[in-house]
Amino acid sequence: MDEMGSRTKVAEPGVMGTSPGRGSLRPPKVAYFSMEVALSESIPTFSGGLGVLAGDTLRSAADLGVPMVGVTLLYRKGYFQQELDARGVQIEHAVSWAPEDYLDLLDPIATVTIEGRPVNLRCWRYDIVGVGGHIVPVYLLDASVKTNSEFDQTLTDHLYGGDEHYRLCQELILGVGGVEMLSKIGHHDIETYHMNEGHSALLALRLVERRLAKQDNRFPSSEDIAEIRRHCVFTTHTPVPAGHDEFSGNLVRQVLGLNRSTLLFSTGFTGHDRLNMTHLALHHSNYVNGVAMKHGEVSRLMFPNYRVKALTNGVHAATWTASSVQELYDREIPEWRHDNVYLRYAINIELSEIRRAHQEAKIKLLQAVEAETGERLDPQVFTIGFARRATGYKRAPMFMSDPARIREIVERSGALQVIYGGKAHPRDDGGKANIRKIFEAAGKLRDAVKIVYIPNYEWRWGRLITGGVDLWLNTPIKTREASGTSGMKCALNGVPSLSTLDGWWIEGHVEGLTGWSIDDDNGSEAEEIASMYDKLEKVILPLYYKDPDGYATVMRSSMALNGSFFNTQRMLLQYIFNAYATTARV
Ligand SMILES: *Cc1c(COP(=O)(O)O)cnc(C)c1O
Repeated sequence: MDEMGSRTKVAEPGVMGTSPGRGSLRPPKVAYFSMEVALSESIPTFSGGLGVLAGDTLRSAADLGVPMVGVTLLYRKGYFQQELDARGVQIEHAVSWAPEDYLDLLDPIATVTIEGRPVNLRCWRYDIVGVGGHIVPVYLLDASVKTNSEFDQTLTDHLYGGDEHYRLCQELILGVGGVEMLSKIGHHDIETYHMNEGHSALLALRLVERRLAKQDNRFPSSEDIAEIRRHCVFTTHTPVPAGHDEFSGNLVRQVLGLNRSTLLFSTGFTGHDRLNMTHLALHHSNYVNGVAMKHGEVSRLMFPNYRVKALTNGVHAATWTASSVQELYDREIPEWRHDNVYLRYAINIELSEIRRAHQEAKIKLLQAVEAETGERLDPQVFTIGFARRATGYKRAPMFMSDPARIREIVERSGALQVIYGGKAHPRDDGGKANIRKIFEAAGKLRDAVKIVYIPNYEWRWGRLITGGVDLWLNTPIKTREASGTSGMKCALNGVPSLSTLDGWWIEGHVEGLTGWSIDDDNGSEAEEIASMYDKLEKVILPLYYKDPDGYATVMRSSMALNGSFFNTQRMLLQYIFNAYATTARV
């Protein structure tokens, strides 16, 4: 893995005896909780954007010298490995990996009570090392301890597997077990708990219990809750209500036990005998944010009783930049590794250099595609990429909706080829159907357009595809994509986007300069499809084939304008300024 980071370290908090204020660059000690974290190519503990964001955040914390630790679950059986048959039917295989090959097992054992049974947890450690040498440890909780029942031993096996009961047990382990484990390890100095999505919100319950243990009261007062809030930050990622975890009161009483669930419901979050993890997190946090400006707006409408801010996501620049482009940046703007703002000066790089570095990344991608699928794509042909979780709202088959129109575009404006990738959640039948639709349409176009679907889209392919294609296509239904991050990876590689105006693209889009928008006047999909095809035919393909310098100019401005901003270094500095600075004031 490529590491990057700062040469100067931010001072450890508390050393000077002062607490951070708004605008302070001295962050508190933060524990970052996330259900999934993408740690490295070989550790399958994530399923998509949420995990990549968590990993990128922690990598930037290591680079910036921010005092942070990560907490997540181990997932011995990972997410799943995707195989696709000739018709695009998804077949799921368990992933096996050996934690001991990558992680250090620690001695401490933490215990969480689940359904009245004490469940013992072990903990594995993974160190993220920033370029300045600062270490951010990530702790992965593991329930496969011999003293646990057979069922309990499986509780940290699967990411997003199992039923609601399994899921609630996992969230109890993450939130309550995570706080316990941090103490057992000796992290008594955590000042701020950052909940990356609501899955870890039960950590607030453990903080309440701890506070009550020092008093005579059985239930928390509003001052107690206010005090907990001063230590919590919550980032919400889901713009649709159905995307937020919710459990019935009965299930909560069964899993947490009567005493603990009575205490939980006494903390006063809105829940009529239901545990909504988002409401739990909102109620206990001093600072709440969505992950792009538009998502902040949507979240404020969803949760009108809370002050929801917005901090736009980013990606870890060095991790997602192709090696040929890294070499270019190293030559032209060597400061970019410790300070991503310098990417702004990519605007001065020679166009021929941009084209050369990109072509190298493209050839590397096409070689990998051939090795994987046997399909030989042409490095001189305009290449479109579309890869992300195959879930309904992202509308992966939208590009294929009119094969006859695609033929017409190719005849009029020049050849194109498409690289697809993405797993559907095992229970997402709509997502699976979308993969089959792409296969079917690809068959109809076989003689005119090469279309490949890369199986098992994960880290390595994410890096190859976002680095090597000529255009990134993104078609979420508007307001459904909280942020999206793969287009940001593309920008770092000088790959422009053609996208509906949603999530981060509302902020990153400058028409004809960083890419192109898919427009609609009345919000109809038919208009969006027409706009997508028209821009390809009349603007994008002619630019690519008839004005290579014009196309390279768009590539270069994507790097300079968007690479320099949509990275986790800028994002984390904003968290320090705006979010963490509101916490830990005692
Ligand atoms: C970046 C990445 C994602 C997230 O992509 P979005 O555009 O945010 O949906 C998902 N999976 C992998 C493997 C990635 O690298």
